[in-house]
Amino acid sequence: MNDLSSLKAVDIVQKLSQNQITKEDVRGFFNKRITDLDPYIHSFVKVFTHLSPADTGLGIPIGIKDNICIKDEEITCASRILNGHRAVYDATVIGKLKQAGFLIMGTMNMDEFAFGSSTENSCYGPTRNPWDITRVPGGSSGGSAAAVAARLIPWALGSDTGGSIRQPASFCGVVGFKPTYGRVSRYGLIAFGSSLDQIGPLTTNFVDCAYLLNVICGHDPYDSTSAQVDVADFSKSLIDNVEGLKVGLPQEYFRQGLNSDIAKAIGEVAAVLKGRGAQITNISLPHTEYAVATYYIVGCSEASSNLQRFDGVKYGLRVKSSELLDMYKKTRGEGFGPESKRRIFLGTYSLSSGYYDAYYVRALKVRTLIKRDFEEAFKQVDVILTPTAPTCAFKIGEKAEDPLSMYLSDIYTISANLAGLPAVSFPCGFSKGSLPIGAQFIGRPFDEEILIRMGYTYQTVTDFHARIPLVTHG
Ligand code: GLN
Repeated sequence: MNDLSSLKAVDIVQKLSQNQITKEDVRGFFNKRITDLDPYIHSFVKVFTHLSPADTGLGIPIGIKDNICIKDEEITCASRILNGHRAVYDATVIGKLKQAGFLIMGTMNMDEFAFGSSTENSCYGPTRNPWDITRVPGGSSGGSAAAVAARLIPWALGSDTGGSIRQPASFCGVVGFKPTYGRVSRYGLIAFGSSLDQIGPLTTNFVDCAYLLNVICGHDPYDSTSAQVDVADFSKSLIDNVEGLKVGLPQEYFRQGLNSDIAKAIGEVAAVLKGRGAQITNISLPHTEYAVATYYIVGCSEASSNLQRFDGVKYGLRVKSSELLDMYKKTRGEGFGPESKRRIFLGTYSLSSGYYDAYYVRALKVRTLIKRDFEEAFKQVDVILTPTAPTCAFKIGEKAEDPLSMYLSDIYTISANLAGLPAVSFPCGFSKGSLPIGAQFIGRPFDEEILIRMGYTYQTVTDFHARIPLVTHG
């Protein structure tokens, strides 16, 4: 059997469509990698061993974060409260994947309801980073990122509310793309922060990223926030040329707290792009320092509202009681993990009467200021280059008792969600301790194309994306 782990996913698609390889071979190859390696990484919640009778597709394997509905399959969001609940319909993105011939290999681990940056907040236990299994893979799409990095699946879908695709992509050395808000339908994605959430691809390279974006993007009448904006053929943006494009480095992203290996690696990305004819300029995003606080008020407020539906009546877990209110309390008390409870408390507080204006409304105003910072910046530059995260993958347990330091992992990613902008993390080096480093591009609304073009050009002259971790338990 050929080793498929060093192939691009699009090459596997091509071999399948030209009958150079059978879908049983492909499935067998990845199933074996999952069986051999996932006991060390724990990236899957569930590996699908059954083939659905409707599955007549090409057999292109993919993993799906466990907060995206797949009809008739269990969907858990890594929470006890959804225990036993099966999705009654396909998310729009799942329908599109099935139609395009994909085979869903299983559901991927995550932080409960996507609350977190480490995949430690999962009722199934943590996922481990394939580059060093004593470390976290990032989160909340940590299962998706770790599995793609270890080539247990050629690509995966995740979701990103404040960095949950990009930060794990940076920790695991893969490409993680958050499209413009409204670009991909949220229908069938279990909501965390409805004004922030987007589904997006995790891949090993930009060619695969463009392919998967082509499959999942587009207007959907089932999602009222889905944009009626034409979608380009993203494969046309796989252009090895950034001549004359203007790249901005926001000075606020290079201040205290940024690991020096990462700062150096981002400088090298800028040098590579400059060498290819791009123009590098310093820019300012003056309200950056308020982004974390703003995000945690807006995100928790929306989460507390979205999570009200999990009450023991309609879905999953019900802790029995003879009295209705007591049933709600016991079900929510036992069903939600500690981080989910913290978010519900914070959000309920900031939405409560008397505090609504002081917290929620004020956060919305600051959100507008953050958005305007980007509008100003994009008058001067075509794309913004930043680090994805202030550190490389940290140790499992290291930040578990310190939510504030965990929240600071998102410092460079959340502004793109608050402003609704497309952003991508891609591998750009390794730390002295041999851990992957991620760089981030942020673009104008609906300009996914420039991010693909920049990333593709960068990957034609570098090979960080082609390195595969040797998973060991030593
Ligand atoms: N890490 C961030 C949080 O904990 C972002 C999560 C996400 O994007 N889903 O909220």
